[in-house]
Amino acid sequence: MNSLITDYLAEVLDEVRDDTAGEVPTYIPALQKADPNWLGVALCTVSGNVYSTGDSSPEFTIQSVSKPFAYALALQEFGIDKVREHVGMEPSGEAFNELSLEEEDKRPLNAMINVGAITINQLLNGTDSTVEDRVEYIRKYFSELAGRDLRIDEDAVEGELEGADRNLSIAHMLRSYGIIHDEAHDAVLSYTQQCSILVTIEDLAVMSATLANGGVNPKTGKKILDADVCRHTMAVMASCGMYDAAGRWLAKVGIPAKSGVSGGLIGALPGQLGIASLSPRLDEVGNSVRGVTVFEHLSDDMGMHLMNTENRAGSHAVRSITREGDCTTVHIQGIVNFVAAEAIVQVLNQHDFTTGRVLLDVSRIVESHPIARRMLKEGLRRLREDGHEIGVIDPEGELRSRVLDDGSRLPLVE
Ligand code: GLU
Repeated sequence: MNSLITDYLAEVLDEVRDDTAGEVPTYIPALQKADPNWLGVALCTVSGNVYSTGDSSPEFTIQSVSKPFAYALALQEFGIDKVREHVGMEPSGEAFNELSLEEEDKRPLNAMINVGAITINQLLNGTDSTVEDRVEYIRKYFSELAGRDLRIDEDAVEGELEGADRNLSIAHMLRSYGIIHDEAHDAVLSYTQQCSILVTIEDLAVMSATLANGGVNPKTGKKILDADVCRHTMAVMASCGMYDAAGRWLAKVGIPAKSGVSGGLIGALPGQLGIASLSPRLDEVGNSVRGVTVFEHLSDDMGMHLMNTENRAGSHAVRSITREGDCTTVHIQGIVNFVAAEAIVQVLNQHDFTTGRVLLDVSRIVESHPIARRMLKEGLRRLREDGHEIGVIDPEGELRSRVLDDGSRLPLVE
């Protein structure tokens, strides 16, 4: 029954599939290994359920999507105040590889652009760490976030280093102001290795869900980051994560996010879920063209905008399950958004219904989102396919329409 979510995700991908706008960047040779047509999306809920569809198996270099995770590790190690002495948290309004520092105290403006990310990378594992130890420390931590052992694409590192003049100039500038201490080449080597960790969209969805879940990896249950570190990281992602399009993104999509030149895009919706998409062709500011549209659809359809007033929801969506004779009733309650509907559908999916009849009592729903109503109806329809007689207790007409996807009507029970 889980497939109703992946079916929905597949519909979203179908809507954007034919859009061939944008270009795969050429300045990192390894990016040419990507098939420009790759298209995939994955979700991981804070309860640890992962759903993916499309190209979920290709591994690609994480690139700038590594920045929020490296930033979170620095915050975890040194605390927010200490890290702020090195890197600010203001949107830059400039290209990701601009050689820019704050006017007054010469700090990088934020950790989502290269100048800030190189500075953050240099803090990790202590400023006197060797490049090798630092990179291994980062690789291990990324692996914990993903819940599996990740590796580095050394060819990608080599290729990027051959044309890394821009990042080298940034590192020289940082050294000249005493912000970093390693040789410029070592700093760029270390940062480029961080960018060349190989991931899939499922890895990225789990990593983002770990941020959304206050630092506990929902798949492995391991506590990796503190909740205040995650909150701070997501706040900076919200204001600075989408290159020059961060303002428009926050208004339109409203999900703390980060994109990268390899076409990956992540979103972390606090307390709800992590999302990741892959589509390698980029727009003029460097964001994945179809990735942005996928997120726009998800945000709209699933009511995921951070500023939605109906976002307080999710847990305790199933109030009780009662049984009378040959009838089981699942009573649901509260605000039913995507995450709540997912939890309800999981119950419909996993509960061992031994009665012929299964009813869904929606009379205690306070508010529901269109995608959630659709998921509930589809969950019931699939129970009917499994041989149960189904019905709904809905005195207020909360479901709006009782027409199911196959055109049949859901019986109303008094
Ligand atoms: N390694 C890339 C660079 O520093 C990452 C850029 C990106 O993904 O925005 O140029």
